[in-house]
Amino acid sequence: MKPVEQYWNPVLETLPREKLQRLQLKKFQNIFRWAYENSPFYHKLYSEAGLEPGDIKTFDDISKVPKMEKSMMKGVQGKDPYPYGDILSLPLEQVTEYRQTSGTTGQPIYQADSWQDWEGGVEAYCYALYAQGYRNSDRIFVPFGYNIFIAFWTYHYAGEKLGCEVIPGGVLNTEARILKMQELRATAMGATPTYVLGMAETARKMGIEPAKDLYIKKITCAGEPGACIPATRKRMEDAWGAKVYDQAGSTEIGHWGWECQHQCGLHANEAFYLVEIEDIDTGELITEPGRRGKMVVTTFDRMAQPCIRFDSKDIIEWSPIDRCECGRTFRLLRGGVMGRADTITKVKGVLLAPASIEEVVRAIPELSDEYEVLVAKKGDLDDITLKVELISGQERNVDAIKARLVDQLRVKTGLGYNLEFHDYGTLPRYDGKAKRFKDLRHKE
Ligand SMILES: [Zn+2]
Repeated sequence: MKPVEQYWNPVLETLPREKLQRLQLKKFQNIFRWAYENSPFYHKLYSEAGLEPGDIKTFDDISKVPKMEKSMMKGVQGKDPYPYGDILSLPLEQVTEYRQTSGTTGQPIYQADSWQDWEGGVEAYCYALYAQGYRNSDRIFVPFGYNIFIAFWTYHYAGEKLGCEVIPGGVLNTEARILKMQELRATAMGATPTYVLGMAETARKMGIEPAKDLYIKKITCAGEPGACIPATRKRMEDAWGAKVYDQAGSTEIGHWGWECQHQCGLHANEAFYLVEIEDIDTGELITEPGRRGKMVVTTFDRMAQPCIRFDSKDIIEWSPIDRCECGRTFRLLRGGVMGRADTITKVKGVLLAPASIEEVVRAIPELSDEYEVLVAKKGDLDDITLKVELISGQERNVDAIKARLVDQLRVKTGLGYNLEFHDYGTLPRYDGKAKRFKDLRHKE
């Protein structure tokens, strides 16, 4: 095991941009050559584009490489070598890990890793945990059954690799998890923002005030936007008396971004990943801050099932802060992952990111953490309904709350809504990723 201090590596993490890009070019050339030579899927993709490994000579040449997306992976999987298909770049015998996407948008993606790939992914995550203040004195509780999903497996193993003590909290129900955390005085946990808020609510019902009666000081959030949305972060930090950090990743990519203790945006982990932002309409690469686009990402060190210029459809933007106080030169993304290109949708002709509705709802303390958005067609027009829950005892203030909601929603999203106020505890609760945004227009 490496001493924990080695996960602050100034040689790697504070490289000037020019040197960092040289390192990224070299790593890109390696993975490109590897995929071209070992994966029939990639060989065909690149041959058809007239590209060979020797053609990537400069950093700018990278943008000539064709992108790859989920539908293409779905097209090959289920074939030999079963079930990954010919995207696999290593003999099947060398695959040691199976994971898959949650498949909320249809058929899941199967992800193969070799032991070396897995160790590389865990190593990359260790840098994130160190930057968030995790040390070998921490006792981490993971309130999830990880099953076939990647996020908390990596969190678990990275915690161990860093020397923390790690308690897997799967199978237990929420009440039992809270009691276990209390009994063992866990100091850190990882969960989705939805569940972090849900656990606090359950704890209070049990007569336990998380900020006072539990020992959690650090929470790493993954799986949903939220930790980078200021109003949601504040709710979580207030409830738990802990610092909350965002962490971004996915099954096909790995954990490519994280927040450091300064919490000023998501650092792209540029030593292990190449993060590019592309204009959704024109495909042009965006290098300046403040302009939203979708992420195109390359994982440098995943060999079994390479992820090269993967069109992730995650909506991100570069931050105007060009140097974080932590000293790391890895670029910052403002607001983390704001949603996916397929959830950022046009409503009444306006581009709507569900995260901006969340920012409004969660900034109003008289409303609970839960909300739901329904978009439907009424005749030819889009009709948008927002359901919120009043905290008990606030029923008589509903008019004033309504006025603030209407006003803030207009400012932040440019849209008018049908507002529905529900009694506390009546909207659905979720254990993992929430499904709060429902677009019913294509189903009618
Ligand atoms: Zn930083």
